[in-house]
Amino acid sequence: MTPPATTPFVVNGRRYAPPARPAVVICLDGSSDEYLDAALDRGRMPHLQRMARDGYRGLARSALPSFTNVNNASIATGAPPAVHGIVGNYFYDAASGQEVMMNSPTFLRAETIFAAAARSGRRVAVVSAKEKLRKLLAQGLVGPEAPGVGGIAVSSEKAHEALVATHGIEDLERVVGLPTPPIYSGAASLYVLEAGVALLARQRADFLYLSTTDFIQHKFAPEAVEALEFYGGIDAALGRLLAQGAVVGLTADHGMNAKQHPGGGPNVIYLESALTQQFGPGFRVILPITDPYVAHHGALGSFAVVHLPPPGAAAPVRQWVSELAGVTEVYDRSTAARKLELPEDRLGDLVVLAGRDVVLGRTPEWHDLAAVAGGLRSHGGRYEEMVPFLLSEPLRPAYAARAAGDPRNFDIFDFVLNGTAL
Ligand SMILES: [Zn+2]
Repeated sequence: MTPPATTPFVVNGRRYAPPARPAVVICLDGSSDEYLDAALDRGRMPHLQRMARDGYRGLARSALPSFTNVNNASIATGAPPAVHGIVGNYFYDAASGQEVMMNSPTFLRAETIFAAAARSGRRVAVVSAKEKLRKLLAQGLVGPEAPGVGGIAVSSEKAHEALVATHGIEDLERVVGLPTPPIYSGAASLYVLEAGVALLARQRADFLYLSTTDFIQHKFAPEAVEALEFYGGIDAALGRLLAQGAVVGLTADHGMNAKQHPGGGPNVIYLESALTQQFGPGFRVILPITDPYVAHHGALGSFAVVHLPPPGAAAPVRQWVSELAGVTEVYDRSTAARKLELPEDRLGDLVVLAGRDVVLGRTPEWHDLAAVAGGLRSHGGRYEEMVPFLLSEPLRPAYAARAAGDPRNFDIFDFVLNGTAL
């Protein structure tokens, strides 16, 4: 077996010096620390327990809005959204008057660590649960636009469709030894890790990013039997990655909280309705959590962007919105860009964040609450910002000091490749 390449590379201003060992970063979608605690307390995650004991376990701050693609793009580039440009699944392009879905990789403004690592000689594989995320992360790594780079990028959602020309591998179901799982399942996430185990074992990859989906976390609280079962499965696969000698880093894209009235039912502020009632028509509220996988959250999260009707006097509206019960932060465009590290040209006039148990909606008619009739759990705001941050190896002193400060989840590759005392 060829040992993993150790040639250093630079991406988005940061230098990475990979170890001569397989390196694996896992992003456990929607995993607030409570999920790990619940499973650890019940003895369901012995391998994670060992990581925490022999390596490092702490918390890191994710990028806001605390959404999936925002944070996966941050982890992939090692940079905040102001650099990579992804602010959610949707934004409103005022110039064209269109609500634009940000699924296409052309919206990604920064190079990924994956593409740079592959060009430096690492065998890179990216595995996501959702296909939309795979396309974003595959940019520059594999496919017709990345000739000769030689990476692998696959999703469990479309495992059966993987082709060498576009995904870097085919016959994935045989390689993994499992059929393509349904996307609305815990199995879609377990498949991601099993694919990582198989690619590592077959020496198809020595540099992996494994990114799951948060179906289980949207549906079940940390102590629920289904959640404990799920994390037990994650831990078993984690054990198989560690057993192959990989340096493993584990974090999450965002946390997850119940967004219910104490008496039941989703706790929603219909912001577009409220603004129209108070100030008249013409307001447009964009909910960047909106995506085709509505069964997860009914397009309800704790972050919204407001576009004002012309001429757009922001100050009185900002003041009024900030006084709404359940709203925790309101920023004008340039303050939001500065404080939240967001790209100014993909925001609106106002950025609004809601409380731990509150979500922001457009109008009652716009949302299909039947999708979340079983209880709404969601994310997007400040209260889903802190996420687990674990390394399988002890940290070098400089990195231990950083970990004690304000580490970010998108520092995880820096910590895995540069920060562990191997
Ligand atoms: Zn997520």
